Amino acid sequence: MKSKWTAESLLSHLSYGYYTQDQETVAVSIRNSVEQPSLLPREQDSEYDTSTSSLGSLDHLSLELLHLICEKLDVQSLVRLSQTSLRARAVVGSFPVYQVLLKHARAALTNLADTRLLSFHPATTIYSALVSSECISCKKSGAFFFLLTCRRVCFQCLRINPALWVIPVKFARKCFKLDDSLTFPPPGMPVMYIGSRQRPVGFVSAKCARQFSLSVHGSMEEVHRLQAADGMHASTLMEGYFMQFLRDAPLQPFTPVMLSSTGWWEEISEFYVVLAQDLPANRGCLVFPPWSVADGTVADGLWCRGCSRMVPLYRHGKLSYAVLSNIMPDLPPDGIETVEALYERASCARSKEQFWKHVATCWGTREDMPDIEQVMRQLHLYE
Ligand SMILES: [Zn+2]
Ligand SMILES: [Zn+2]
Repeated sequence: MKSKWTAESLLSHLSYGYYTQDQETVAVSIRNSVEQPSLLPREQDSEYDTSTSSLGSLDHLSLELLHLICEKLDVQSLVRLSQTSLRARAVVGSFPVYQVLLKHARAALTNLADTRLLSFHPATTIYSALVSSECISCKKSGAFFFLLTCRRVCFQCLRINPALWVIPVKFARKCFKLDDSLTFPPPGMPVMYIGSRQRPVGFVSAKCARQFSLSVHGSMEEVHRLQAADGMHASTLMEGYFMQFLRDAPLQPFTPVMLSSTGWWEEISEFYVVLAQDLPANRGCLVFPPWSVADGTVADGLWCRGCSRMVPLYRHGKLSYAVLSNIMPDLPPDGIETVEALYERASCARSKEQFWKHVATCWGTREDMPDIEQVMRQLHLYE
């Protein structure tokens, strides 16, 4: 019997994410078609006669040297430079990094402009994130762009690495005892602004705030001491516990052992979700398909629907011990490590090739489509 499935329809049934051949999928995930804010120029579209235009004192420098200067500049400065003269516009427009960013990282640039982060990082930092596929924190594949630092990250690290957490400036002041006499955030510390122009709310990295507090108070013990001397200023018990957690947490991804030894992990991560709910995109991170320098293509990033169904099933007690120990033989079938391992599976983005390999043996997919192996064989997707 002929299968009702094609490789394409099977792929969109079993996965979601960005698949470069499938324009509809791409459109769902990536805001490529967003309105261009006035700060971002239109793509360089025409040739200009720059023979009579000048760059002032930079005029005697070769194009190579001018591009080396461009490498040091952030995108906002590049835009401003390009507006000074036709020659400057031609120089910036021919800067390869800038060309690639305008073409393949427009959503990132737009969001950086919207949150006033565009001036904090050289254009080359955004470019490096675009052309790498590695999460800065765990070195595995990362499908997201972290706006505050302009680095590539994976969703699992965003969840379990407090070094990637972003907190309101007001909260950071309270948590790390930074009173109004201190200039905080100090110049140079990236601040992500959310909300209206008139009343924006600033967010900073919890890690940077803690480091700044250390430079002021000398140690977190001193911060604890000041907090105790002042009386607790947390509005709720959970807020107090969360602040203590941020002051003491290791600034790296939590390992299963660390997770199980951290009491209240679930409550802490839930508290953070509420604190970070106003951040744009997902906790201040955009889906960011890696772009290949070698062949100029954008990599696919497919998430498995079967795997993403497993977290809620587990939470509702619908995954048996037998199933769990079969899927993850190294972990105890209950406890926080198991939930995190399931989250990790659900948040893993794969290339199309990796995805077909995975899905043939994915428990969650089999539950939805018991005949998956047979269908894949018919389509010659599984040997
Ligand atoms: Zn990671
Ligand atoms: Zn799966």
